[in-house]
Amino acid sequence: MFTCEAVEKAKPSDIEALAEKLEPALARAVRDLIKDHVASVDLSKLEEALKEGQTHRILEIIGEVDPVKAQAVREGLQNAVWAGGALAVQSPVLNEARFAFQRLNPALITWLEGYSLNLIREIGEGTRAAVRSALVDGMTKGVNPIQQARQIKQAVGLTESQSKAVQNYRRALETVHTRRSLKRWGLGNERSKQSGVEIAPLDPKTGKPKDGIHQWRLRDQRYDNAIRRAQENKKPLTPEQIDRMVDRYQERMIQHRARTIARAESMRALNAGTGEAWRQAVEERKVNGDLVRKFWKDARTERECEECRSLARDQPKRGIPMNAEFVSKKSGRRYKHAPAHPNCLCHVFYRLMEPEQLAEEAA
Ligand SMILES: [Zn+2]
Ligand SMILES: [Zn+2]
Repeated sequence: MFTCEAVEKAKPSDIEALAEKLEPALARAVRDLIKDHVASVDLSKLEEALKEGQTHRILEIIGEVDPVKAQAVREGLQNAVWAGGALAVQSPVLNEARFAFQRLNPALITWLEGYSLNLIREIGEGTRAAVRSALVDGMTKGVNPIQQARQIKQAVGLTESQSKAVQNYRRALETVHTRRSLKRWGLGNERSKQSGVEIAPLDPKTGKPKDGIHQWRLRDQRYDNAIRRAQENKKPLTPEQIDRMVDRYQERMIQHRARTIARAESMRALNAGTGEAWRQAVEERKVNGDLVRKFWKDARTERECEECRSLARDQPKRGIPMNAEFVSKKSGRRYKHAPAHPNCLCHVFYRLMEPEQLAEEAA
């Protein structure tokens, strides 16, 4: 029998390190897919539809993300699932059982296809809501069709709340010359060397900056001087300047969204791969499924998150059966696997129990 402590200690760093390795490729694939979609939107067609008052055609012109171009996303997810399987194979129990992970297991392939399709659909669904919101915003503000077409295109690839942040950013740029102070802009704040984004304390629950200054920290700071000058001289930025700045902001927001998606999905796929390895091992009768228990392990970096802490702390001492769901006492939500939410770095691990241990629990 292997010692549980050793596995528990080794696993968090293993799986988190693996997720960190897999994340950039997946983030690039998601970003390219979204950027491709933005590039495919024909601005003149949007203008035309808006001039003719045919707003019902907008979503049709925006179209969808191209599923053929989503191949890299599929591959990224697949690699992460396989890596999760490979990690599980190294656990002493599966290793000793001479279990070999079947990458092309039909059930796994079917599951992966559904998982990829779902994710790709979700990426597209955000856009529809974002575009609708930009359309309504433009109509209520009475901007001209050319401006409105641009604003709609600037919502493509984003979620509704991200699109609203872009709209707010545009408004802030349009009125920056009337401001008495630029305090809220955080000009000159320290930036992350990695992402170029200003450093701000994050709310561990939502993963969003705590100070909530509209996420303008995603702006391209190369324009900060122009912003400062406009405010000092009380002279508005030109529409061209504003469009350029908003375009860049959208781009950075897309990158940010792609990273967030990739972080969550590389953890999800790794966890799914680990679970799949154990499922296969049981299917092949290498281990007795009745004796397998799974456990929720909260990430060390996430100790302030009450949901994840509850999932880890309030679980039964002997874990739960492989196919059962973890229940959070905090929210009542149920989870088959980690992660529990975007930016969650928790993972699920498996142990083979002795029959006596489970008998103890039943008694
Ligand atoms: Zn959490
Ligand atoms: Zn978590």
